[in-house]
Amino acid sequence: MRMPLRVARRTVLAATVATVLGLSAGRRVAPASAETAPMTPAEAFRRLLEGNNRFVAGQPPLAVRTPARRTELAQRQAPFAAVLTCADSRVAPEILFDQGLGDLYVVRTAGVVADPVTIGSLEFAIEIFALPLVVVLGHERCDAVLAAIEALQHGSLPAGQIGAVIEALRPAVQLARLRAQLAALRVPPDTEPDLPEAAVRAQVAGVVERLRRAGPVIAPRLQRDQLRVVGLRYDLETGGVEIVA
Ligand SMILES: [Zn+2]
Repeated sequence: MRMPLRVARRTVLAATVATVLGLSAGRRVAPASAETAPMTPAEAFRRLLEGNNRFVAGQPPLAVRTPARRTELAQRQAPFAAVLTCADSRVAPEILFDQGLGDLYVVRTAGVVADPVTIGSLEFAIEIFALPLVVVLGHERCDAVLAAIEALQHGSLPAGQIGAVIEALRPAVQLARLRAQLAALRVPPDTEPDLPEAAVRAQVAGVVERLRRAGPVIAPRLQRDQLRVVGLRYDLETGGVEIVA
């Protein structure tokens, strides 16, 4: 039987987690400061986009990463959004959204792969911090997606657990390939499809859809407009993001 987190928190395991997070049992974390007070989904999304605009424009970061902020956060955290993104070294959410220490709850996997542990990590943050926003952030020229396209083309999976990443990306690659084949059948045919780009977008859209259908933690919050799940695509050249799902 599923146990609400507030009840589960009384268990030894959850008590350990609560200790790590600076929570006492049964008490919801308080905002660390006015800056991280609870927001609506729209407010949280606007804050991210404003930060990204500053990053794109090359403006000096407003993100707070001072020793004082570090000390303030040492006992409690109150992020205002979660970001699931690729492990790619060029796609660091705190930098490209110009956010500070303690602002974002970040989960990163190669290719923005979302397995049960990934989704559980996001649900954990949504439940504990009452997050109003989850962003799924893909990016152009994703090496994991490129590797998946090549591996699936040749029918050979890489060694070790890399194959698990490739397998997780298989549906997005297959969907992108199918769309490319359909585009080629049109008269006149569409311009040469960009398979990696289409696969990245399919992966983001697929993960967003999976999260929206994930079950009892996410779905009720979406229905009550307490949470939004948004899929974005990051442009490596401009530093900008666009909504894809
Ligand atoms: Zn990537």
